[in-house]
Amino acid sequence: MANIQAIRGMHDILPEQTPLWQYAEKIIRDVLGNYGYSEIRLPAVEKTELFKRSIGEVTDIVEKEMYTFEDRNGDSLTLRPEGTAGCLRACLEHGLLHNQVHRLWYYGAMYRHERPQKGRYRQFYQLGVETYGMASADIDAELLLLTDRLWKRLGIRDKVRLQLNSLGTIAERLVYRDALVAYFEQHLETLDEDSLRRLKTNPLRILDTKNPAMADVVSNAPELMDYLGNDSKQHFQTILNTLTDLGVSFEINTRLVRGLDYYSKTVFEWVTDELGSQGTICAGGRYDGLIEQLGGKQNSAIGFAMGMERLLLLLETLDLTIENTVDVYLIRVGEQAEKIGLRLAEQLRSEIPTLKLQLDCAGGSIKSQFKKADKSGAKFALILGEDEVSRGEIAVKSLRDEKVEQQTLALNAAAEFLKTAI
Ligand code: ATP
Ligand code: MG
Repeated sequence: MANIQAIRGMHDILPEQTPLWQYAEKIIRDVLGNYGYSEIRLPAVEKTELFKRSIGEVTDIVEKEMYTFEDRNGDSLTLRPEGTAGCLRACLEHGLLHNQVHRLWYYGAMYRHERPQKGRYRQFYQLGVETYGMASADIDAELLLLTDRLWKRLGIRDKVRLQLNSLGTIAERLVYRDALVAYFEQHLETLDEDSLRRLKTNPLRILDTKNPAMADVVSNAPELMDYLGNDSKQHFQTILNTLTDLGVSFEINTRLVRGLDYYSKTVFEWVTDELGSQGTICAGGRYDGLIEQLGGKQNSAIGFAMGMERLLLLLETLDLTIENTVDVYLIRVGEQAEKIGLRLAEQLRSEIPTLKLQLDCAGGSIKSQFKKADKSGAKFALILGEDEVSRGEIAVKSLRDEKVEQQTLALNAAAEFLKTAI
């Protein structure tokens, strides 16, 4: 019978890969902690209606990417394609939005039925950050400063660029939308099929096209920036001033519209040139209208989501050596040694709580156990053979420094030795 394989676009993260993931995850948590953000944990499945209402019916995600299925009782459920909707649903449900300010983050797998390729998968991990209740441009700037700090800590700041735009308020965007439709209607012959459809449903998305035949018509289109009111302009300018003051470089990209209906004012992307067309590693924006759209009271919100696999692809271009290693590998030969060795391992872990000790449980010759000790990355091998057992001793061998001779210790001196040696 053929072996069963994983689903296309859904990947295992193998033990040799997890140390780099954990390394990145720790830095991410540390930086979020630096700014006082709290974690929220959310279900992976929500009612389909939630995504339709928040993301919008005429978006790529809802139109063609969702994993939607019927529950046994006939409810339509969807594997979350993103976390913004679920996070807001949870906060509304638990009354967290009333007269409060929140800075939240979540981390987990998201699901989208897309064509799998490098940096684009059907199950992928996102870090999501959402803030509620803050209208000031300082929170927009804070999210950008936080991500800037994150890239620096991860050592990839020179590989990413910040692109910014303002989409104005929903009312301002409606006026612009009419102007844009009027413009594209004069160029119907250059629009492709997707764009003709979007002209009716979501004309701003036409600006997002990757079709080179449409590059000219798009670059001559009216610019949203010219349709912003004073308040939107001022908000945007404050962010730019803060970034300039603090030395964070950015580019204004007036074509940046993001795929989702719910954005207003600030939108941004951190992009890289090193991952081909999957170049956006982090994207977000302000979505002041969404809380109301989901049945809450009008309130401010801004957040972003970062794609972990794309971040990891970038980290892999650095020459980091991050491996999961242990401090000590305990080798046992003979029945008595096996018994004493297991007890000793437990005792050492109790006495030195930070100790990483791997006990050989597969047996075999001393030579084969030494091979495994080497592979474990341990600094020291502890060796319990029949001779050592009969004398109440244990041998210690450095696995890093060839010149250091193997030495013998009294069994009860092993803990003291390791406390200073590792
Ligand atoms: P793209 O334009 O690349 O499809 P998107 O606009 O659909 O991205 P968002 O919904 O804003 O992406 O998600 C935020 C981030 O999550 C992206 O910038 C990317 O890093 C990551 N991401 C999105 N979809 C995928 C996917 N299918 N596989 C891996 N990462 C993804
Ligand atoms: Mg997408």
